Amino acid sequence: MKAFIDFDDVLFNTKEFKKDLMAIFYSQGISRQLVYDTMYWDEKYNLNKQLKFLEKEYKIDRQKLKTKLDIFLQDLSKYVFPDVHDFLKTVGRENLFIISYGHSDWQRLKISRAGLNNFFQDIFIGKDKARGILQFLNLDDKNKISEKTYFIDDRVEYIEKVKKQIPTITTILLKRKEGRYNDQKNKWCDQEWENLKNKL
Ligand SMILES: [Mg+2]
Repeated sequence: MKAFIDFDDVLFNTKEFKKDLMAIFYSQGISRQLVYDTMYWDEKYNLNKQLKFLEKEYKIDRQKLKTKLDIFLQDLSKYVFPDVHDFLKTVGRENLFIISYGHSDWQRLKISRAGLNNFFQDIFIGKDKARGILQFLNLDDKNKISEKTYFIDDRVEYIEKVKKQIPTITTILLKRKEGRYNDQKNKWCDQEWENLKNKL
């Protein structure tokens, strides 16, 4: 068995994390509007670009803000949902892969500081999640999958794309009440879970 799991809003309480992250900017006198306007670069959150831009265009003390952020980002384990560790231990490291989208360094930093690296065999960061899955299965031909495979995500958009590419995979829509999105189950989602207290 192999399980491919999304990170944000599935393993990690991104809503709370983002709220606390933004609060650090506000504490330095940066407005909510400015924080949001400078967050995304090529559709992805990019903290370094944001800091450089704020320094250049708004004369914000980048070093001071960076120091505060570095302290905050040192340990993100409190944002891991409480049911995650037991679930991952049960499935087993040899069967587990993170399949996540976002800026690669930023996603890897969050995963690592959340203390989750050792629970996973490998990590794929990219928009084409089906490609990441097939890469880890070491298959050129998706029809050759011999073992049971699962894909767990909170976004229907990704589930749909993965299921279309890999029809034999079992897709699970994870709808946590703490999640930022409220995607509705459709025909591409084989199951819908509220949390990770379920068993594969
Ligand atoms: Mg997600």
